[in-house]
Amino acid sequence: MSIGESIAEGIPRAGRGEAAGRRAEVQRLLGLVGLDPERAFSYPGQMSGGQLQRVALARALAGQPKVIIADEITSALDVSVQGTVLNLVRDLQRDLNLSMLFISHNLAVVRYVADAIAVMYLGRIVEQGPAEQILSDPQHPYTKDLLAAVPSQSSPSLTPADTGPAVQAVNDAEPADPHHPPSGCRYHLRCPIGPLVLPGRDVCREVDPEPEGHRQAAACHFADDLLISGKAGIL
Ligand code: SF4
Repeated sequence: MSIGESIAEGIPRAGRGEAAGRRAEVQRLLGLVGLDPERAFSYPGQMSGGQLQRVALARALAGQPKVIIADEITSALDVSVQGTVLNLVRDLQRDLNLSMLFISHNLAVVRYVADAIAVMYLGRIVEQGPAEQILSDPQHPYTKDLLAAVPSQSSPSLTPADTGPAVQAVNDAEPADPHHPPSGCRYHLRCPIGPLVLPGRDVCREVDPEPEGHRQAAACHFADDLLISGKAGIL
């Protein structure tokens, strides 16, 4: 299929005289995502990765959606192109008043586009809330570890520099098999303040925590603990 045919597939059927209307709509959509309308006659193999992501956005918009689910839309792109695609996404969000569920492993990207964040671990949402709050004051150990793993983040790690062997062991642990998740809290085998590090926290092994909190909710039995909030900072 040409780019134009591919985008036209997503446009709702309008009845009589629709061929001309669909052509015009394809041109409008290409313009909306910053591509020359003449690109309608191109084929995917003639376009770059960034241009193809723009086409994918145009196809998604063709269906006049209320919500767009964007799953790792920049992960395959060169870093130099990621910025322009993200700017486009932000502009479209604002100009079309779109809602977007943006799925990413890249926290820098999430920080740039998200108003609200939900952090997932092994298929569960472990923390959710306003983006600014989650990024500046994470309450769940997994969120903290994610942020601490980003080199430019100033967010403190839960793990102090002088880690003991137990902390080192959970740091080095691989994620569990999502088809056979651990009992209780799914993060407990890797948690630096969980039962493998702090004996007595057996509840983590036994009871799957529910997200708690009003604006910012963390699924952790010890989310209110000073150790987790980072205010004490010592294990
Ligand atoms: S419930 Fe326990 S194991 Fe799970 S994140 Fe909280 S402290 Fe760690």
